[in-house]
Amino acid sequence: MSTVEPPSAECKSAVLQSLSKVRATVQQCQQNSGVFTDARLVAVSKYKPASAILAAYDAGQRHFGENYVQELCDKAAVLPSDIEWHFIGRLQSNKCKALAAIPNLWAVETVESAEKAHKLNDAWHSARNHRPLNVFVQVNTSGEANKGGVEPHQVEDVVRNILDSCPALHLQGLMTIGSIAGSQQRPNPDFCTLAELGNGLRQKTGVELELSMGMSDDFEHALELGATNVRVGSKIFGTRPQKETIASATATS
Ligand SMILES: *Cc1c(COP(=O)(O)O)cnc(C)c1O
Repeated sequence: MSTVEPPSAECKSAVLQSLSKVRATVQQCQQNSGVFTDARLVAVSKYKPASAILAAYDAGQRHFGENYVQELCDKAAVLPSDIEWHFIGRLQSNKCKALAAIPNLWAVETVESAEKAHKLNDAWHSARNHRPLNVFVQVNTSGEANKGGVEPHQVEDVVRNILDSCPALHLQGLMTIGSIAGSQQRPNPDFCTLAELGNGLRQKTGVELELSMGMSDDFEHALELGATNVRVGSKIFGTRPQKETIASATATS
């Protein structure tokens, strides 16, 4: 932990201020819709330095989300061990082992096939972690070809695979990213699809399922539609460099 630069005073106060604002908004939304269990705020810290994460940590934030396995491994190694990490990037089978080596990985939100669930199950089991790994099944609610996630009609199959034959995994819920077009509509059709799938599967399986949906621009709306886990990055840490710049600067994910 000694290798992390402490955040500058400016960074600390900026992160504290934006984090407080987001937290207040989450609380307000839940009060408005009469929900009394706290939704989980995941601070998405991809491309942001460990010092910025520490600033949020010092403000009491514990759940953080990262998109790239190597970046997550590097940060987890130097940051406090009571951080609860969420992997929210595209899950590749050959990266399951590296993920399972992070003892304080709290959830993988992007399980998108029964095969990958089994890979993750085996990796988590082999790493001898003494609790199950929480997973969300990512659903491609928008039907876009380039989006990750299970097709809605295949979600039940993946869910049953996890429940029946992945003892090292705990099924936490469903997750969607949704399309840009959908994010401009009210209600957001992607969030509606995820909520309906969640309701149907709760009835069929009898297990409680969370909904991970909503990002900086639409987490309030997601909460109105039943999100229990929101993933907020730029509203907490400020804007990131554009994807195109990053894609050319990094060889692998
Ligand atoms: C980057 C990212 C987020 C956060 O996005 P913001 O718009 O910065 O809040 C949330 N979820 C996923 C899957 C992401 O990749």
